[in-house]
Amino acid sequence: MVGRLNGISSPKLDIRGTGMTSPRARERLITRLREQGIADERVLDIIYNMPRHLFVDEALSHRAYEDTALPIGSGQTISQPYVVARMTEVILEVEPKRVLEVGTGCGYQSAVLSQLVDQVYTIERIDALYRKAFRILRELKIGNVKLRYGDGYAGWPENAPFDAILVAAAPDEIPPVLLHQLSDGGRMIIPVGVSGNQQLVSITRRGEEFYQDDLDRVLFVPMLPGAG
Ligand code: SAH
Repeated sequence: MVGRLNGISSPKLDIRGTGMTSPRARERLITRLREQGIADERVLDIIYNMPRHLFVDEALSHRAYEDTALPIGSGQTISQPYVVARMTEVILEVEPKRVLEVGTGCGYQSAVLSQLVDQVYTIERIDALYRKAFRILRELKIGNVKLRYGDGYAGWPENAPFDAILVAAAPDEIPPVLLHQLSDGGRMIIPVGVSGNQQLVSITRRGEEFYQDDLDRVLFVPMLPGAG
């Protein structure tokens, strides 16, 4: 049951005016995420309240609360809610305050993170998506996400180090530049490998040591060299 999730429980998110559409579809989604093992109530709460239908094209909005990736244009997708929940849950374990996301897409993952940490930095290599994400985050009055149009392989050195780095597209190998933008005790979560055969891994930094944990098998769009 998600009854206690009704209403706006997060002080940072202003969804007044967007209305609470599809409460039953949202409840079904939360039930499914719980069944799949998502246990962090803060994450479930934010996903329940976040208007995912505003991040996808209107023609697909009736499917917005299904646990599935959906096209967002430019050959890219909005990540599956399970994957967003899982990645968020894993980085929250290190209690991050400043988080870097690589691969903004339509901005949904950034919006989820914005409710759970102090500051989100996010980089997108496709200009049309960068603009779209910028617009929707402004409409939702989310003020703690800084967006950049550019190449995520370079990270965001001016604002490093980050307590967590979440990579939303899959490189063939873990980019060392990103690892070195983690703070001591920080954690990166990233899908690695060629398409159809990717592994979600979490890497935690302790001083100059990096500890890797292999998580789920996943399917992400490939991480491509950026424009920017
Ligand atoms: N975070 C998104 C998922 C977007 S899909 C969500 O909330 O649903 C992954 C995104 O990564 C795509 O928009 C793609 O354009 C972007 N991407 C791929 N390679 C990149 C790179 N080198 N730098 C920045 N973004 C990249």
